[in-house]
Amino acid sequence: MAKIGSVMTPVGRKALLLGSGELGKEVAIELQRYGVEVVACDRYANAPAMQVAHRSHVFNMLDGAKLREIVELEKPDHIIPEVEAIATPTLLELEAEGYNVTPTARAAWLTMNREGIRCLAAEELGIRTSNYRFASDYEEFKAAVKEIGLPCVIKPIMSSSGHGQSVARTEADIDRSWHISQEGGRAGAGRVIVEGFVDFDYEITLLTVRSCSGTTYCQPIGHVQVDGDYRYSWQPQPMAAAALEKAQEIAKKVTDALGGYGIFGVELFVKGDEVIFSEVSPRPHDTGMVTMISQDLSEFGLHARALLGLPVPSIRFYGPSASRAVVVEGDTDKIEFDNLEEALKEPGVQMRIFGKPEVKGHRRMGVILATADTVDEARAKAERAYNALRVNVLDR
Ligand code: AMP
Repeated sequence: MAKIGSVMTPVGRKALLLGSGELGKEVAIELQRYGVEVVACDRYANAPAMQVAHRSHVFNMLDGAKLREIVELEKPDHIIPEVEAIATPTLLELEAEGYNVTPTARAAWLTMNREGIRCLAAEELGIRTSNYRFASDYEEFKAAVKEIGLPCVIKPIMSSSGHGQSVARTEADIDRSWHISQEGGRAGAGRVIVEGFVDFDYEITLLTVRSCSGTTYCQPIGHVQVDGDYRYSWQPQPMAAAALEKAQEIAKKVTDALGGYGIFGVELFVKGDEVIFSEVSPRPHDTGMVTMISQDLSEFGLHARALLGLPVPSIRFYGPSASRAVVVEGDTDKIEFDNLEEALKEPGVQMRIFGKPEVKGHRRMGVILATADTVDEARAKAERAYNALRVNVLDR
C-alpha cells in the first residue's frame, strides 16, 4: 500500500533533488504538495529549487565521492536526478545498495551522454534515428563528416540546451563546427556525435508517464529551437493519426527499456507519417513547461505522483496552450521584469519567474504561458505578452 507519513519525522518521505533549476523547482513544489521533505542540490547557491526546498547542499554533482557523501548523510527515500551532469556511475552503485533512483539509475546513466541513449535506441531497440557517427578527435571527426555527408549536425556527446552544437552545411563550416563542439561541451573538449541533418516537417516532445497505472501519454508538444535551445512550445501539435501512433510506439519502447516510474520527454522528428527518434530525458522536459497551463497535472505533478508510487489513471488536457521562454542576455545579478501590467493584461496568460540569481551570457530566466481556443491563438497571445514584457538588465 502506498503511504506517506508526516513530513520531517522518521515516518515521512525525503527526496534528494539532484539539480535545482526551474524544472527542479516545480518538482520540489509538487513533492511538497504531498508532504514530502525536499533537499535540493546544485553546484551553486540559491538555485531556483533551493528557494522552495526544505534544505539544500551546494556541491559538484559530477564528483562521485561527494555525491555519495551527501546521499549517505541524507539517506533519502527518493534520489531524483533533474539534470544530466551527475556522477551517474555512483547512482548505479547507490541503487545496487538499495537506494531508489528516479526513474532508474540506468536511465540517468544512459541519457547522461548522447552515445548511451543513441546506441540503445538505434542499435539495441532498432528504432529509426538520424544517421550518426561518434568521433573522439579531429581526424575521426573529419572522417565521420565525410561518411555522414553534408549537411550534418555536430554536438558534444555531453551537452544540452544547444551548447557546443552547430550545423555544417558546406565544407567551409566543418572546422568551425569542430571548434564550437570543443568549446561548448559540459566536460570541455571531447567526443562528439555527427548526425545526418533531418529535414523534418516538425519536431515534438511526447511526454510519457510510467507509473503503477501503466504508461500514459500527454498530448504531443510542438516546439521551435534556436541554436539548439527551446524558445516556443505549444500543445497539442496537430499530427496525422498514423504519425501519433508511431510516436507513441517509439516512446513506449524507449521508456520501457529505461524502466522505473516518472515522466520522460521523448524527442521526435516527424516528416509526413515517418517518425524519427532524437533523444529522451528521463525527467521533465523544458518544452513541457506548457503543461503548467494546459493540463490538470503538469509534467512536474505527473513526475512527482508517478515517482512516489501513486497512480496516474488519466491526464486531463484543458485545451490549446503555448509557452514562450524568456531568455535574457547580459552579465548581471540584477534584472527587472518590467511592464508586467501590460504583459499580463490579457485573460489566459500566466508567467513564471524562475528566480535565478544571475545571468552571464544568455540564460532562460522565465517563461510565459498562454491558453486560447486554438494553438495559433495561444502562440500569438504568448508572443504579445512576451513583446509587452520589458527586461531591464542593470549593472552589477
Ligand atoms: P538536441 O540537443 O539533440 O535535442 O538538439 C536540439 C535541436 O537541434 C533539436 O530539437 C532540433 O531542432 C535540432 N537538431 C538536433 N539534431 C538534429 C538533426 N539530426 N537534424 C536536424 N535538426 C536537428
